[in-house]
Amino acid sequence: MQVLSRLLNNCPGFGKAFHGLACLAVAVGGCSSFGPSEPALPPGAVPMAADSRYQDWFGRTEACSGLDGSFQTITWYVVPNAETFETPEGPKVGMWEKSGAVTRIIIAGRYVAHEMVVRHEMLHHLLDREGHPSEYFTARCRLTWDSWGQIAAQ
Ligand SMILES: [Zn+2]
Repeated sequence: MQVLSRLLNNCPGFGKAFHGLACLAVAVGGCSSFGPSEPALPPGAVPMAADSRYQDWFGRTEACSGLDGSFQTITWYVVPNAETFETPEGPKVGMWEKSGAVTRIIIAGRYVAHEMVVRHEMLHHLLDREGHPSEYFTARCRLTWDSWGQIAAQ
């Protein structure tokens, strides 16, 4: 219990990755400053219109995964000019976030035109989950840094 109360006190002050993850889990249960209906955006994130290529990339991600999804339900954000942005799990170049009917994809500014980074987050949307099952992220779609590099090497 002491650990739990410490985590609650830390929420949403993200420090170490473990605390961040635990805080997210707690948030679903009702962390007041970080409710499930309004996930926190990374600092500096602003809405952006989907790039003209994104619809095509979405179709290709549906094709490789064999999954269907709705492109229109994604709300896109960018952190302008950023190489990475801060998240509870540490710095990232892209992030998928779902809460109820709201789906957000946030991309670091330097990577908004990077097909792998954008499609990686689209695949989270199609799978409707976090984590990276290798069947989809590696074998089917090759949307990880390592497996994407394999395509270029072929
Ligand atoms: Zn991911």
